[in-house]
Amino acid sequence: MYEVAIIGAGPAGASAALFTAKAGKKTLLIDNDKGMTRRGWYENYYGIAEVDGPTLVETGHKQAQKFGAELVSDQAVSVEQSGEGFKITTEGGASYEAKHVILATGAVADLASASGVETKDGTEPRIKTVVAVDAAGRTNVNGIWAAGTVAGVSVHAIITAGDGAKVAINVISELNGERYVDHDVLKKG
Ligand SMILES: Cc1cc2nc3c(=O)[nH]c(=O)nc-3n(C[C@H](O)[C@H](O)[C@H](O)COP(=O)(O)OP(=O)(O)OC[C@H]3O[C@@H](n4cnc5c(N)ncnc54)[C@H](O)[C@@H]3O)c2cc1C
Repeated sequence: MYEVAIIGAGPAGASAALFTAKAGKKTLLIDNDKGMTRRGWYENYYGIAEVDGPTLVETGHKQAQKFGAELVSDQAVSVEQSGEGFKITTEGGASYEAKHVILATGAVADLASASGVETKDGTEPRIKTVVAVDAAGRTNVNGIWAAGTVAGVSVHAIITAGDGAKVAINVISELNGERYVDHDVLKKG
């Protein structure tokens, strides 16, 4: 069983996976590569002068995979409660079990609705429906969280990536039973 399964590997999902995998949590990332991030050109991502969407997405995937996150290309079609966690079923016919699930599906909230997760009207331009979350990223279903555009944050890559990181830190903290921080100290040459 995975400790964390993340659906959607745009900035929100891949950033969440980077944190959970780096924290040593067995992490699955499922993505159908239909997100919005690849289509953009970014000059407002702090710390990066400019970057094209495909490079931003692919670099994020590599960062998460470097720490052991498993990336699967498929579409998640349902998330159901199963045992002590959830069973995620995909269009490709696979199923995966995870203790916690983070929905990071960008502009689409269909999976949330299909899985009994409460949604509400979006407030950002062109984002019709979002998942209802509390300040930590929790949904109405204990163990299902949401991050990024689908969680209703401002539709900017640095914000969605930061929101994915925030939710991941909250999931890790819950798994560990204490607040978690991930700080690396500068290595002196
Ligand atoms: C043309 C364009 C230009 C932009 N320019 C800028 C800019 O200059 N600066 C800026 O800050 N922001 C810009 N943005 C916005 C920015 O791209 C987004 O705010 C942000 O990257 C969204 O991240 P996300 O992870 O929430 O969603 P996404 O990047 O959309 O990621 C969601 C992922 O979930 C996957 N997914 C969805 N449902 C499923 C499912 N059921 N199963 C498996 N996978 C699923 C999708 O395929 C996708 O990969 C631009 C957007 C567009 C479209």
